[in-house]
Amino acid sequence: MQKEIIKKHTKIVATLGPVSETVEILENMIRAGLNVARFNFSHGEYEWHERVMQNVRIAAKNVGVPVAILADLQGPRVRTHMEEELEIEQGETVRIFDVSYDNAKIEKIAQDEKVIILDCPSIIKELSVGNEILIEDGLMKVRVVDIVDGYAIADVIDGGLVKNHKGINIPDARVPLPTVTKKDYDDLAFALSQSVDFVAMSFVRDGQDIINLRKHIRKIIGEEETMPRIISKIECKEALNNLDRILGATDAVMIARGDLGIEVEPSRITILEKDILKKSISHLRPVIVATQMLASMEHNARPTRAEVADVTNAVADHTDAVMLSGESSMGNYPVESVRTMSQIASETEISPYDDVFEAMSLTFSSEEVNIAHATYDFSRELDAQAIVIFSESGYTARLLSHFRPNQIILVATNNQKTYNQLALVWGVHSFLHAGECSRKKCIDQTIKEAKSKELLHSQDLVITVLGSTKAGKKLTLTGSRIT
Ligand code: ATP
Ligand code: MG
Ligand code: MG
Repeated sequence: MQKEIIKKHTKIVATLGPVSETVEILENMIRAGLNVARFNFSHGEYEWHERVMQNVRIAAKNVGVPVAILADLQGPRVRTHMEEELEIEQGETVRIFDVSYDNAKIEKIAQDEKVIILDCPSIIKELSVGNEILIEDGLMKVRVVDIVDGYAIADVIDGGLVKNHKGINIPDARVPLPTVTKKDYDDLAFALSQSVDFVAMSFVRDGQDIINLRKHIRKIIGEEETMPRIISKIECKEALNNLDRILGATDAVMIARGDLGIEVEPSRITILEKDILKKSISHLRPVIVATQMLASMEHNARPTRAEVADVTNAVADHTDAVMLSGESSMGNYPVESVRTMSQIASETEISPYDDVFEAMSLTFSSEEVNIAHATYDFSRELDAQAIVIFSESGYTARLLSHFRPNQIILVATNNQKTYNQLALVWGVHSFLHAGECSRKKCIDQTIKEAKSKELLHSQDLVITVLGSTKAGKKLTLTGSRIT
């Protein structure tokens, strides 16, 4: 078992589940490079989420690095509701019901026919003949050929094993659910009671969705507490059309390729990924590439070459983070998946293919941007090992990260949420200083800690940026070799 934390700039988000719930496994995942723990509120009970969130905090403390907690809200999503798994084959016919249908009648029909039940009441009413129903990120597909007695009859186009609680997409039907459902509001209240660092919103359609959600969160947590940062999941056509407004309103972005790959032709997915990455970075929004990145590692200890290429490409396109789903929540190799991702990220980062003179230009300019740019130039000219700053909200840290410097960015902060939230930001290592501590002292302390963690070594050249608390007053940029 390797004990050292893998050094990489790109961050890793991993979905947690039954295979990744213990402190021990979580510690191993963190050592392997995990930065953000994703809790998918589509699955699991509150009791489970609460317990595992606590375990993440314990494991992060034990390893001594920040790990952010992300609560992912399901949104208007239909899922299968099956007591048993069902094998369906191409050419067969299946009967599709929703949960509002009389259970006794379903059971009777199920004696002779294959039956799939959907968890959204009244969804059958929205179906019409010809509609395609996709199951589990489009892995399986059936087509509606008739609607009788309040249920649908469908031909199996692409077969497979239909499991319980898997996602359903019906591209041509209206899902009778609001963007934020009753379940989402309940889950959000619970997540906020657990002080999560990020809230991800599924099926965002426009900037206003985020503005509304932020207002709602503020109302619940009050004026004093630091806000969790909102991640917009880009996974439907409407979001693509309104991307600029979404980027204006959101704090961060997730390219949710599972649903996106159903809404648009799968052949367009990688091009869209590149577009969204580029736009997010130029809006200074941390961005996550998600879904099926190392999918075969659910069952195998090694990734396919195509999966390696997928992660490599996202890293070479300067994504802030890459994400694991089933690989880390229900697969056989949760720790190995994280380690594999870390290794691919490190290899790509040191290769010439990841080189940038400076990242994509920003959509705005300001004094802070110019200072960050100057710091980037200065560090590059001097070939320094690290940039050290103090940041309360994390904004300066994100600005520096934007330029994707070769240096690691060490950030001293006195805010617990900022400390955790920077776990998602490319190249940033954050250090928490509780209590009263002058900026200068916090920075010195950070350098010491970074040295003890072997992020820095004696004689390394470190660039520090120190500003007085009042913005724009006095700013010093210092290069010094550490002892
Ligand atoms: P989404 O559209 O939000 O990605 P999903 O169903 O695809 O939803 P993932 O987060 O991609 O879910 O995770 C993949 C699978 O891992 C899930 O379908 C589920 O079987 C399993 N899983 C995830 N989280 C949990 C959990 N908390 N408890 C049990 N199983 C889970
Ligand atoms: Mg999704
Ligand atoms: Mg998924």
